[in-house]
Amino acid sequence: MKRALITGISGQDGTYLAEYLLDLGYQIYGLVRREPRTVRWLQGVCERVEFLYGDLRDVAALEVAFRKAWPDEVYNLAGQVFVPSSWEHPSETFDVNVGGLVRLLQIVERQKPDTRVYQASSSEMFGNVDGHCGERTPLNPASPYGVSKMAAHHLVRIYRDRGIYAVGGILFNHESPRRGPEMVTRKITRAAAGWANGDRTKLKLGNLLARRDWGFAGDYVKAMHAMLHQKEPKDYVIGTGQSHSVAEFVELVLKELHRQGHGDDFDRPMEEFVEVDQRFVRPNEIHNLRADCRLAHTELGWKPELDFPGLVRIMLDSELAAFGVQSRARAAAD
Ligand code: GDP
Repeated sequence: MKRALITGISGQDGTYLAEYLLDLGYQIYGLVRREPRTVRWLQGVCERVEFLYGDLRDVAALEVAFRKAWPDEVYNLAGQVFVPSSWEHPSETFDVNVGGLVRLLQIVERQKPDTRVYQASSSEMFGNVDGHCGERTPLNPASPYGVSKMAAHHLVRIYRDRGIYAVGGILFNHESPRRGPEMVTRKITRAAAGWANGDRTKLKLGNLLARRDWGFAGDYVKAMHAMLHQKEPKDYVIGTGQSHSVAEFVELVLKELHRQGHGDDFDRPMEEFVEVDQRFVRPNEIHNLRADCRLAHTELGWKPELDFPGLVRIMLDSELAAFGVQSRARAAAD
């Protein structure tokens, strides 16, 4: 039975990856900082995962966890992921996102150098680029978060040159009902559940024109696993190839609320539901991110399965269910 150690197992990607690997027959060890059994999305797999306590900043705890897990594969998904927080806490962001990885790589190299390592690299490393970004696009990050991910990405490369099977998966934004509530997609769908319940408080957002290549996290974890099963270790870009604006996301949510019969006013202009608040506008904004993921298509055989409207729908439906709201259309059909 293959053994995998997942750091950040209680986060969005960690929970999807744990489910995926368990289905493939893996023994899963999950590094956590606190009691994971209360994490809603882990409920289904809790009994089948062995949790190990530790923090990426604590090398002694990592060594103990590694020895217990003795993994064939390590997925380093833990990290400080929110761009604005990386401006408030840049050194902590580095300590976790860069220091954490290098501690793991050193442990792998010293203790079990045949362990394969997946590092969660990010499209934020590219910064502002015209057009699509591929594996060879120069990295020009615009935030401490982006710089930390770039440093970690380079560490993967130099440890790979020393013989470790290590890869950086350059994942573009990937979302799901499990996304953190501070990220814009989840912020919008959460507010939308309130609107469906009759609350007409306007949602305060930042730059509505920012564009992201949003895909579904459940699809993306499959690419992580595929990257660790190639003949040669290599970095891959993962995304859908299409970007949409924050405004388009909101418009699609309103359209869906209208279609599901939650209220007649959901066909009204977005401005009736959303307002721009300068506090959420980023000074170093990345305006548009789009993936060129041809290499992943051809070499990994990976393609995203859920499209953008489908992603918006599952996020919204999950939020509505959490609020106890039933779509009138569906209720009528029941
Ligand atoms: P990121 O791409 O990893 O920074 O993911 P986010 O979901 O945090 O942000 C995606 C885009 O949405 C960025 O360009 C933000 O500037 C933009 N955005 C606009 N309004 C908001 C907001 O209220 N919250 C967040 N998190 N992002 C916002």
